[in-house]
Amino acid sequence: MAERERILIIEDEEKIARVLQLELEFEGYETGIAYTGSDGLILYREQQWDLILLDIMLPVMSGIDVLKRIRATEYSTPIIMLTAKDELEDKVTGLDLGANDYITKPFEIEELLARIRVTLRFQKKNQAPSSIPPKKDPFLHEYGGLSMHEKTREVIKNGVSIDLTPREFELLLYLIKHPKQVLTREQILDRVWGYDYYGDTNVVDVYIRYVRQKIDKGSNHPLIQTVRGVGYVLKEKNYEA
Ligand code: CA
Repeated sequence: MAERERILIIEDEEKIARVLQLELEFEGYETGIAYTGSDGLILYREQQWDLILLDIMLPVMSGIDVLKRIRATEYSTPIIMLTAKDELEDKVTGLDLGANDYITKPFEIEELLARIRVTLRFQKKNQAPSSIPPKKDPFLHEYGGLSMHEKTREVIKNGVSIDLTPREFELLLYLIKHPKQVLTREQILDRVWGYDYYGDTNVVDVYIRYVRQKIDKGSNHPLIQTVRGVGYVLKEKNYEA
């Protein structure tokens, strides 16, 4: 059996910390908890961790200070910040200081688990590049945490499976086949609805809204961007944008 991945939880709200611990252990991770920033730093130094969940508002030493201390020596341990809604500045500071991701409280545990999976997977991929490149599946399309399979029609966003109607699937498939490329409403209409469609392009906006609801709702990193007056593009948003 593979060794269990170890996650350090630094969070002063005991209830949240306990829930996180229960959920993470249920998912098969090993965990440790620290209730203050300084205790977190001590535990971080004493043991080996695969990922750190770091609250920002912490007693004794703030999450930002903990982050600074860790990143002063290494960038290899991924850190996901837990922030409150009104801590936008801290989020930006945290990302600037080398946090890998953040999640806003209150969060859905499923979203946090998905973020953890993605972060760990990304970390592993960067640390141990496989000598044999995996065979590329021509029907599998991937971009920005989203993957779609043309044959199985499976859609996954950040590790979570998503149900799309056939039309929604065709729309998103067209976008993911042309990532970072702006597609006009007319192009989308022609490709997804076909030339025999006589309605107007508003239907594209309606369906874009449906698909957004399913893949981008509540996400800190929405993938479908509107290009005003032109159309849409599947693109990861830069933090500074
Ligand atoms: Ca706190």
